[in-house]
Amino acid sequence: MIETDIIIIGAGPVGLFTVFEAGLLKLRCHLIDSLPQPGGQLTEIYPKKPIYDIPGYPTVDAGELIENLEAQIAPFKPTYTLGETAVSIEKDGDLHYIVTTNKGTRHRAPNIFIAGGLGVFEPRKPPIENIDEYEEKGVDYIIRDPKKFKDKKVVISGGGDSALDWAIYFVENEITAEVSLVHRRKEFRGHLDSVQKVIDYSNEGKINLITESEVVGLNGVEELNSVVIDSKTDGKYVKEVDNFIPLFGLKPKLGPIADWGLQIEKNAIKVDTTDYSTGIPGIYAVGDINTYEGKLKLILCGFHETTIAVQSAFKRIYPEKNLVLKYTTVNGVNGF
Ligand SMILES: Cc1cc2nc3c(=O)[nH]c(=O)nc-3n(C[C@H](O)[C@H](O)[C@H](O)COP(=O)(O)OP(=O)(O)OC[C@H]3O[C@@H](n4cnc5c(N)ncnc54)[C@H](O)[C@@H]3O)c2cc1C
Repeated sequence: MIETDIIIIGAGPVGLFTVFEAGLLKLRCHLIDSLPQPGGQLTEIYPKKPIYDIPGYPTVDAGELIENLEAQIAPFKPTYTLGETAVSIEKDGDLHYIVTTNKGTRHRAPNIFIAGGLGVFEPRKPPIENIDEYEEKGVDYIIRDPKKFKDKKVVISGGGDSALDWAIYFVENEITAEVSLVHRRKEFRGHLDSVQKVIDYSNEGKINLITESEVVGLNGVEELNSVVIDSKTDGKYVKEVDNFIPLFGLKPKLGPIADWGLQIEKNAIKVDTTDYSTGIPGIYAVGDINTYEGKLKLILCGFHETTIAVQSAFKRIYPEKNLVLKYTTVNGVNGF
């Protein structure tokens, strides 16, 4: 059993910053996330995109913001259960809760912060029968590290910005040996600039643009070595590849959070804005997962919410102690 002061469900930016604010009050935190790494949407969906509305940073890449948050919370030695989904919360005595994951890991604390964002991410998979067999063996739904595709023959599928941007990125950074972009229509849904760039690169022979076509089959013994493409004009044919990257987006699903007896409205948890509590003592909801009048799903709003909620969590553990706000400029950051 992992024991701590605050169990944080969701290691996105808001979950991570919770560790800092809790640490200033000498509260320890443990984070749970179904993804294998911290960072939430920023790491999973847009690590290379610049963010412009983080106070004090005119611009910061999403991935860099997560790295900075990890460095900022390091003095408070957070611990993690990663790659596991929190599936249940039970009461344990008057004060404590036990959170259990899908793999059976148990965590006990008097406070739970649900920082679950939009929920658990699931990729939208194309309807190819044996696609699950090739996951991590040539099929990727998300590009975490583009260098993985160095000198590979890659087929990207999709008609949105993600598919266009990655095809362009591979060409401009000379990553892949060959990049093909397969899309079932003639027209793309992405930004006009990106569409034009892809057409230009296609005319220059740098992108193999295959429209009005779909990837319908995958072959390979241990790993993927070819895809079957079904083209409106040429019919079915086999193309040798090292990697197939279908980029049809991720769909977040609220998942188990919906079953915890909390008040849910529009796929989010209703909270009291005095302290972002859920109505169940000791259970708070912060960041994109919560809703209240005037809610904005922005990182800086989540940072504010969790700062307030941590004060309330402290009072739940130490009702007799008087909490005095201390500036970090005066007190510094005293880790554990
Ligand atoms: C393309 C894009 C661009 C954006 N640009 C900006 C911007 O410029 N500025 C801005 O402020 N915001 C922006 N946002 C919004 C911003 O990303 C979110 O507001 C932010 O990620 C919310 O942080 P969070 O920590 O609340 O949740 P998330 O980042 O969603 O993290 C939640 C985490 O909880 C985990 N989780 C959920 N349920 C469970 C469970 N049951 N068990 C275990 N783990 C669970 C998930 O796996 C996830 O990692 C953008 C979003 C997108 C998609």
